[in-house]
Amino acid sequence: MLKGIGASQGYGIGKAVLIKDINIDYSKVKYTDAQTEKNRLQNAVDCFIDETKELCESLKKSAGDKEAEILEGHIMMLNDPFMMSQMQDNIDGGFIAEKAVDTVCNMFIDMFSSVDDELTNQRASDVRDIKESLLKILLGIETVDISKVPSGSVLIAKDFTPSMTSQINRENVSAIITEVGGVTSHSAILARAMGIPAVLSVLDATKKITEGEEIVADGFTGKVFINPSAQELEKYREKQGEYLKQKDSLKSYIGKETVTADGVKKAVYANIGRPEDVQNVLQNSGEGIGLFRTEFLFMDRNAEPTEEEQFEAYSTVARVMDGHEVIIRTLDIGGDKEIPYLKIEKEENPFLGHRAIRYCLDNPELFKKQIRAILRAAVYGYIKVMLPLITCLEEVYAAKAIIKECEMELAESGTEYKSVPIGVMIETPSAVLISDLLAQEVEFFSIGTNDLTGYTMAVDRGNSKVSKLYDAMQPSVLRAIEMTIKNAKKAGIQVGMCGEAAADSRLIPKLIEWGLDEFSVTPSSILQTRKAICEYKA
Ligand code: PEP
Ligand code: MG
Repeated sequence: MLKGIGASQGYGIGKAVLIKDINIDYSKVKYTDAQTEKNRLQNAVDCFIDETKELCESLKKSAGDKEAEILEGHIMMLNDPFMMSQMQDNIDGGFIAEKAVDTVCNMFIDMFSSVDDELTNQRASDVRDIKESLLKILLGIETVDISKVPSGSVLIAKDFTPSMTSQINRENVSAIITEVGGVTSHSAILARAMGIPAVLSVLDATKKITEGEEIVADGFTGKVFINPSAQELEKYREKQGEYLKQKDSLKSYIGKETVTADGVKKAVYANIGRPEDVQNVLQNSGEGIGLFRTEFLFMDRNAEPTEEEQFEAYSTVARVMDGHEVIIRTLDIGGDKEIPYLKIEKEENPFLGHRAIRYCLDNPELFKKQIRAILRAAVYGYIKVMLPLITCLEEVYAAKAIIKECEMELAESGTEYKSVPIGVMIETPSAVLISDLLAQEVEFFSIGTNDLTGYTMAVDRGNSKVSKLYDAMQPSVLRAIEMTIKNAKKAGIQVGMCGEAAADSRLIPKLIEWGLDEFSVTPSSILQTRKAICEYKA
């Protein structure tokens, strides 16, 4: 039996499918002659174009023409005689096909990324994708197509990136197991959003588990059984049946008003990372979006999303939520959330470093692009903006000044926009201690217990060795939460919670008692949270 952290509830039973990290290394490939290398290059290009055309067709059906257009652009780039002739010239100069592809693509990447224009920068990321695909074909590296794994697959990987996760077909994936990450890591958040059981931080999982082995993953306790005995298997099948039955019984809470047994109105909102997650929120009758983690729009790509792309994402969510509140959190990167192309310097203590609002205030162009997209999207629904990792008033003043500046610029250029209520996340002990002052400056609070627990208990939220101390039920964390809610109430502003603790049944009675207005949870926890609130009586 292996042990990790149970990070997404449920029991997953199925066959192991290993997703290995790929290593693109062509140092051992030998040059034969120019013609052979040119043939290898041409074959790889033909193969790439065929595969891409196929993908385009299926994307047109599943995601729409817009996504497919990006891939059609890849084909056009490779059909450009200039790019191909450069590669052939390199081969004539003695390069193997792999090195020719690498060299020429890097040249284009440098050229496109040096221009100060978003669309041109985007082309650099397209060339990176092309380069990686061509090198994989040339080296015969096969990658598992996550979207096509058979039913009953248990996916095992070092970690799951958002783009890997977005390919998961939840009908076919029984569970996810990774070697890194904790309850609040992004793999965990995504697994919960999709309702897939997950066990994370399983040491050497990709080495200890072999492709095709029978696996039982317990998303509650973090236990992973490899080739379990018939008895164990039976026991877990029964547990799974019970759990699914219980989950089914929660369906009676769909569309039900969230009101305590003694008549106090509350609201259950949802946390999302991508516009697609909204479907899951609606299916579970979430009453709003309490946290849109916008960093997911920035992850797993080679250049930042344009203002238009962001506007599209935010306005889509606002429109689909049809007048219900959508709280968009400005970019929260750094700490455990890496975005390589933003070139954040390596730091000794990334959780105490240049992250979230600190990074945005020091990179006003990036921040303003996001704010403009949010203000423009606000025309299409009920949007609020929320600032992450606030520690002092000066950060709020500076962010508000930038938001004002964006409004003025939009007004001057005659662009349609709407002013939005501004709130802050209370996720540092410093913000808690000045929550009375912050409440005078903003229109709402949302308590981020994932970080607040970490910073209060001085525990790295992703480190399994100290995970015992990472508990929002610790008296110090409870006091911080209570103080924040009381200060918000005193100032008459709305206070919600978007950390994972909002769905913790041990904590919910206390949160109601203290007066929390809004509970923002992962979409698959909406009904369970609503049930706990509806059953509460003072
Ligand atoms: C939090 O810290 O509680 C939170 C909701 O933000 P994130 O998990 O994205 O850091
Ligand atoms: Mg946080």
